[in-house]
Amino acid sequence: MPKIDGKRLLADLNRIRDFGRYKTGVHRPHLSPQDVESRRWLSDRIREAGLEPVIDGVGSVFGRSSRPGAKLLVGSHSDTQPNGGWLDGVMGVIYGLELARAFNEDAQARALGVIEPVSWADEESAYLSFLGSRSYIGEIVDAEISGARSRDDGTPLTEALERAGFAGRPRIQFEPGRHKAYLEAHIEQGGVLEHEKKRIGVVTTIVGSHQYRIVFEGQQNHAGTTPMRLRRDAGVALTRLCTDIETRFAAIAGPHTVWTTGKIQLTPGVPSIVPGEAEMLFQYRDPDPNILTRFSDALVELVAEASRRGPCRITVERRSRSTPMAMDAAVQDALEAAARRHVKDGWRRMHSGAGHDAQIVAKKLRAGMLFIPSIGGVSHHWSEDTAAEDIVLGAQVLADAAETILRN
Ligand SMILES: [Zn+2]
Repeated sequence: MPKIDGKRLLADLNRIRDFGRYKTGVHRPHLSPQDVESRRWLSDRIREAGLEPVIDGVGSVFGRSSRPGAKLLVGSHSDTQPNGGWLDGVMGVIYGLELARAFNEDAQARALGVIEPVSWADEESAYLSFLGSRSYIGEIVDAEISGARSRDDGTPLTEALERAGFAGRPRIQFEPGRHKAYLEAHIEQGGVLEHEKKRIGVVTTIVGSHQYRIVFEGQQNHAGTTPMRLRRDAGVALTRLCTDIETRFAAIAGPHTVWTTGKIQLTPGVPSIVPGEAEMLFQYRDPDPNILTRFSDALVELVAEASRRGPCRITVERRSRSTPMAMDAAVQDALEAAARRHVKDGWRRMHSGAGHDAQIVAKKLRAGMLFIPSIGGVSHHWSEDTAAEDIVLGAQVLADAAETILRN
């Protein structure tokens, strides 16, 4: 069985934390100077592990082997949220690197095949969400890349790639038959494992999500002289719809459905003016496609009813939609068997409420995901953390599962 070197794994995780360190977390958006530097550092580690490092035309880092035989692709993303956590994404990348080394150092494991590590570009959508994995499976075209800009300062993606020195390089594409499967480990980013005192999560499905922009058109007017009965207050219409959504969605939700109004804007947004326009960004997620359809129908109905009732006109525009993605059954079984070996009953199967590169790669290649606990369930925040023993355990469970998959 390939043996993970826990000290080496933790040392590398702590080293890459230095690229963009922010308090105990990391600020390393895709193609920021710190991100580019961290990708070059990772390339050096990949070369030391006996693989050829390649940074492709969107900034994804691959470790490639010319050895024939079975291969697994193992990784995640090393870009972070603004002022994000030190493990979100990059832990799965360093697992890929450590598995590559562990398999290379163990004669038996080496004979079974090769682990090729990967760090996908821009999972956290500083420019384009899932840029690296979508490029890899051919879901993204050059026109989309040419039109993309930084969500922070509007810098064109092409300019950022140029500055990083990655422009004009080929984009590495999925090769049918090259890999037997894709494995991604990630912190849970929620509190289920910790709450149930489990140390390993075997992901069954990654949820689908629908995102909407809902716009309310009223009439802007003086907040002192406009009587209540004559108002067409877009802000009031918005809060009413939010209440209607709470009631209706709670009645039709499945056990795992979540819904969120993440942003509300009133225009012009000053104390003495009745808002003439309001906007909300709304999303819901579920692992079951039928429930997503049910929610979509309910939302359209609620908006139509509210708009008919007046006095404001309400329109809803779908911004994005992803379908739930099941993880490969045999990969789940291999992860489960490995987890049992190390923690007996200290594991569970669970869906992922967050999106991951695995949901993209799974469109072309058998894919599976492993979770380890997040302390306090905290993520997308610099204070995010996981116990060192859990980090090392997760890597060993993933290595065992990888061995089973390569063997079968
Ligand atoms: Zn992540």
